[in-house]
Amino acid sequence: MLDPTLQQTLDEVLRRNPGEPEFHQAVREVFESLQVVQERHPEYSDKGIITRLCEPERQIIFRVPWVDDAGTVQVNRGFRVEYNSALGPYKGGLRFHRSVNLGIVKFLGFEQIFKNSLTGLPIGGGKGGSDFDPHGRSDGEVMRFCQSFMTELHRHIGEYTDVPAGDIGVGAREIGFLFGQYKRLTNRYEAGTLTGKGLDWGGSLVRKEATGYGAAIFADEMLKARGSSFDGRRVAVSGSGNVALYAIEKTEQLGGIAVTASDSSGYVVDDDGIDLELLKQIKEVERGRISEYAERRGGRARYVAGGSVWDVPVAIALPSATQNELDEQAARTLVANGVEAVSEGANMPCTPSAVAVFRDKGIAFGPGKAANAGGVATSALEMQQNASRDAWTFEYTEDRLTAIMKGIHTTCLETADEFGRPGDYVLGANVAGFRKVADAMMAFGV
Ligand code: GLU
Repeated sequence: MLDPTLQQTLDEVLRRNPGEPEFHQAVREVFESLQVVQERHPEYSDKGIITRLCEPERQIIFRVPWVDDAGTVQVNRGFRVEYNSALGPYKGGLRFHRSVNLGIVKFLGFEQIFKNSLTGLPIGGGKGGSDFDPHGRSDGEVMRFCQSFMTELHRHIGEYTDVPAGDIGVGAREIGFLFGQYKRLTNRYEAGTLTGKGLDWGGSLVRKEATGYGAAIFADEMLKARGSSFDGRRVAVSGSGNVALYAIEKTEQLGGIAVTASDSSGYVVDDDGIDLELLKQIKEVERGRISEYAERRGGRARYVAGGSVWDVPVAIALPSATQNELDEQAARTLVANGVEAVSEGANMPCTPSAVAVFRDKGIAFGPGKAANAGGVATSALEMQQNASRDAWTFEYTEDRLTAIMKGIHTTCLETADEFGRPGDYVLGANVAGFRKVADAMMAFGV
């Protein structure tokens, strides 16, 4: 139960943003954690900090016209929500997926504020994207779409203003087309304006791996905190994009056995441990489907069309596909099968009732804004390298990432302790992420 003032603020936020269920879900979860902050810091309410924080500083919606290979004119919608710049330039990815709408971008941007704050690095929160679906599109079509998207976006971004990166549907290929168009339009080699760039043109080692690595490292820290480990344990990973591939890689390095991967059509189970080279070949090189993995593994793996990857008995779960992919039923199945830790590689992959099941049953649960912060943290490291015209080694960059993830884990635990909720990573992440942003906003005045 929220206190009446907080409840009133929440009701007002929801009322002003109708028809955006994912945004409402993300806001509600943060408000539940802010109850304890409100009791200790009434000054935040007096200055309207929570109300101000929920309202994006700027929301840009634009038309993206482009010509497909058949010569037909296509029109998509582009978004950039510049949510909060109290801690630094807006920072967050671009998502190209047919589900993208303003509510989705706002939910992601809102989460990004707290996530970026938790990294301890000077980055504000933002997010963008389009309802463009790159699947089945030729390189030429993707290029023309990206160029048109950037033709509008370029006037809103910059290394001191707003620094986009990738997310679902936006990888190195798309960042290349976007950066090329930015450079062409501005006549500036402003590498720090986009992150996730290729290694030869201002990108950072470990950026590609960072989100997945970070989610596994966060799980490892949660396990260690309870005297446990990855060693020899079965791990379920959902998805087969960038986050999933590198969550699998780090799981294996930490001694775990990643036994699953999935896409929107089904999942594969490989009890010997996923053959990562084969999976990378299919997903990164051939841009193929997950079913091909089972076919090419020669009977050692099975493919399940449809169904839920969370039916597979595992000790550790790393949901790394998309929002609300793991519901209450899936959470109950995981718990019945003895899951010990869940670390969110994707943004908000667990529904609120799934999270409630994990918290109820004392499962270590790492929320996305803490567990998947490794991606954006390494983007901030890419910005540092661009600003100093430097290129760090893999080892050095990975050490920095690992230290950041360990730091986030400690911050969450210490904050949860401070507010009398030991082991509650959700509360720890929300409160610690919020406090820093709120204090900066207080310093700046209204
Ligand atoms: N899209 C990633 C996220 O959800 C990374 C954002 C970035 O690197 O700016 O955090």
